[in-house]
Amino acid sequence: MLTGQKPPGESWPANRPPEEEAREQRLRAGDREAGFEIRDDFEPFDQRNDMFCRVQWDQSVMSDAVADFYAQQKDPKPRKADGFRQRDFALRNASWVVARTYSERGQSEGKREGFQDPIDPYHPPAAEKLPVDDAAQITNEVKRVARFLGADLVGIAEYDERWVYTQKFSIIAKEARPNELPAGLKTVIVVGHAMDYGLINTFPSATGSAAVGKGYSAEAANLAMLAQYIRNLGYEAVANMNDTALAIPFAVKAGLGEYGRHQMVISKEFGPRVRFSKVFTDMPLAVDRPQPFGVSEFCDICDRCADACPPRALPFGPPSFEVANRSGLAGVKKWTSDAEKCFDYWTRIKTDCSICMRVCPYNKDFSKPAMRALRWLMGSRFRRLALWLDIRLGFGKRKLPADWWQEAGVTER
Ligand code: SF4
Ligand code: SF4
Repeated sequence: MLTGQKPPGESWPANRPPEEEAREQRLRAGDREAGFEIRDDFEPFDQRNDMFCRVQWDQSVMSDAVADFYAQQKDPKPRKADGFRQRDFALRNASWVVARTYSERGQSEGKREGFQDPIDPYHPPAAEKLPVDDAAQITNEVKRVARFLGADLVGIAEYDERWVYTQKFSIIAKEARPNELPAGLKTVIVVGHAMDYGLINTFPSATGSAAVGKGYSAEAANLAMLAQYIRNLGYEAVANMNDTALAIPFAVKAGLGEYGRHQMVISKEFGPRVRFSKVFTDMPLAVDRPQPFGVSEFCDICDRCADACPPRALPFGPPSFEVANRSGLAGVKKWTSDAEKCFDYWTRIKTDCSICMRVCPYNKDFSKPAMRALRWLMGSRFRRLALWLDIRLGFGKRKLPADWWQEAGVTER
């Protein structure tokens, strides 16, 4: 199913407009290119089933530990362990300030921008639309602007309702809400923000979480600016992060990376250390194509993430249609994590985890020629040798948060 609007079990009407037929065929061809295998029983995702929403309404996953986890996001209780001291939580919480400022400004209306609601427009689109005669030219300009505003990666995908949430969920009002979007959306500007290599290597720790918080804060600010740029040209722009729609299918289709066993997109430039967000627009941009570089084949022979995951939330073996619970996306053949086990672990350590990101052999500093050579080996028929070397050379080991502080010129207190 391609639009999410067809009632289950019903076939498409024979008199479907030719442009709709052509669009469906284009999306299906794109699915094959991206390596997506989608069954007829696929249904778009309901945001109520996202783990962060479920803990607000689903008794089966609510607990005192979850309540304590959220309480400690704002008021952490530092402990003696390295990576969980006052300075670590201070850094973590500082890094989240911009994202939280956006997410909290619509609280009185039950909104949480960037998480359950798109970033509010600063100003509506200009009355005059900039004419687009050359899609390639305007696309280059949009990509240039996105990078200027702070994006590390940018690509364009065709707008696709299948990845849009059937409804959104307000964790403040604790109710589902319609996921309303402007009519006529055509394309998606997908932006990636890289996360700090040194900090990610300290996971699990509050220090490592600062890399994630900085990624969220950067994307909230940069997306707001990028969407306003599009509106100033007279077009609609819906800036969305974790809200509104899944990001992964758009990022893969926009050529920004491949899907990995740990349920993250692995980019060529930064491996899995990237946060993806998107701007939906009616601007007729030139779309990119998937750019596989051997990740899927490498994941077939590697299970470092699944092996390192403390609660065993990641799957071993080949991709499948299996989902562990309602937080998995049904009807798509892929590696799917058990989000309940994953989040339960987060509540136990009182911060996010990302061990799977740290140990992934694609988590490298690819600005270094030797690392690029290793990446080439991973994408070749010598991938088993690359995996052996990765383990042998000690990649993926946890870096002590105290060492990160030391490198930054701060001595132990
Ligand atoms: S974030 Fe941690 S708990 Fe969750 S899947 Fe990754 S390693 Fe497992
Ligand atoms: S750790 Fe290995 S299996 Fe997991 S995503 Fe990375 S490359 Fe794939």
